[in-house]
Amino acid sequence: MPNETYAIYLRKSREDIEAEKYGEGETLARHEKILSTLAQKRNLAIGKIYREVVSGETINERKEMQKLLQDVENETWTGVLVVEVERLARGDTSDQGKVLKAFKYSHTKIITPVKTYDPDNEFDEEYFEFGLFMSRREYKTINRRLQRGREISVQEGKFVGNIPPFGYTRIKLKNSKGYSLAIDRNEACIVKEIFRLYLIENNTINSVVKQLNNMGVKPRIAEEWTASSVKDILSNPTYIGKVVWNRRKQQKKTKDGRIIITRPRNSNFLIYDGLHEAIIDNKIWELVQEKRKQNTPKVKHNNIVKNPLVGIIFCEKCGKPMQRRPYNKYNKPEVLMCSNSKCDNISSKLYIVENKVIEALQIYFQNYIIDYKVLENLKFSNNLILENNILELQKLLERENSKLNKIYELLENNIYSKEEFISRSKKIKNNIRNLENRLNEYNTTILKSDKERIEIPKLKNIMELYKKLENAEEKNVLLKSLVFKITYLKREKSIKKTSDSTEFELNIFPKI
Ligand SMILES: [Zn+2]
Repeated sequence: MPNETYAIYLRKSREDIEAEKYGEGETLARHEKILSTLAQKRNLAIGKIYREVVSGETINERKEMQKLLQDVENETWTGVLVVEVERLARGDTSDQGKVLKAFKYSHTKIITPVKTYDPDNEFDEEYFEFGLFMSRREYKTINRRLQRGREISVQEGKFVGNIPPFGYTRIKLKNSKGYSLAIDRNEACIVKEIFRLYLIENNTINSVVKQLNNMGVKPRIAEEWTASSVKDILSNPTYIGKVVWNRRKQQKKTKDGRIIITRPRNSNFLIYDGLHEAIIDNKIWELVQEKRKQNTPKVKHNNIVKNPLVGIIFCEKCGKPMQRRPYNKYNKPEVLMCSNSKCDNISSKLYIVENKVIEALQIYFQNYIIDYKVLENLKFSNNLILENNILELQKLLERENSKLNKIYELLENNIYSKEEFISRSKKIKNNIRNLENRLNEYNTTILKSDKERIEIPKLKNIMELYKKLENAEEKNVLLKSLVFKITYLKREKSIKKTSDSTEFELNIFPKI
């Protein structure tokens, strides 16, 4: 290398990245051109260009900066060209000290289009330090302004993320800055299906995952659905037309001298009405959140269910499940009590609570007019996926049939031997049979789901059915299909013989 060699260091700032979003050209290429021209004008020989592709705040996050500093410390370069001093260090005091020392002790110059900093010149050194100090304050202001800008965009209902949630694509707004979301028809179908499987079919998360993977529908990047990807969809308010702010706020922690950024879920996130169209009905969404909140204890299969309310009834005071306590010895009726020994919620006789629940549900369902539209909305998604599958299969079937015709032609024209024809046609006929079987399967499923639709009004008679059921387990299954949960609260003991033993409060969360 010649005696005097220089290097170029390129790095995007956060503002550059924002500017690129609004149509500004690629930053690094533009800066490289500026600095190459500068080098040419001043006759500086460039030995290396360090291109930082990630936009990290700290030196630890910037691989190229680490290499540059090492080379600077080894006195490889006479000087380093940057578009502005701040590109070298920004935001962090200890990082700035590191940069300052490396350049100072190796006598490496910093060259920007407006000024050359020579660390051997005392005045420049001060200037350099001052420049970096300024940039730190400036950085904080800019960062605050940037965050504020995003928050305002969210309040206006715009989408400020980079990656649109599953079910949507990101679209540029026509009459203002920023972005919103447009429904992606195919993905939205899957979103609806996830809500339907979880809520209406009352599946567990894991069972929803299994069914999705069996159906052959795929998430965007991963090969298969997982519990966490399904949970994310079920809890994302974007689907009811909302935009959220700070759902996962960055948190910085120092660990082993490094800054670690985590994005934990933030329960205090802000939520605004979005400009985009909802995929999921509000009511469905609320019910799903209600179901997600409870951690229903599972009924063990080898245990005989003796309490028809098990897994359904919870303590209003502490949230723990209410438990059945048998009084077999004294031939007294069973008692329903909070399973938390420290809780002071007052217990009741189980049969009294059960009767009240049934009474309440009876009234509820008799007066209930089912919101068909809400159900139809979800049914529709399921059928749409099936219909898409059917169309796909029909296309494949057509293709196989035309292949079959083709080989008949080949046989007629003596291009295929008889043996060739037989083995080819066997294969194709096999394919056709398989496709036809799958088509039949899908068609029956569609028919079945059409039938389910007609069953709904029968709900009115369900309470009569309940009374006819003989064991607690059957009753429990039926109740679970009707309600998410019931909360129980009793404030005062009924000590006197004249006091009302039904003086407790029940909050029932029906599924429909
Ligand atoms: Zn309790």
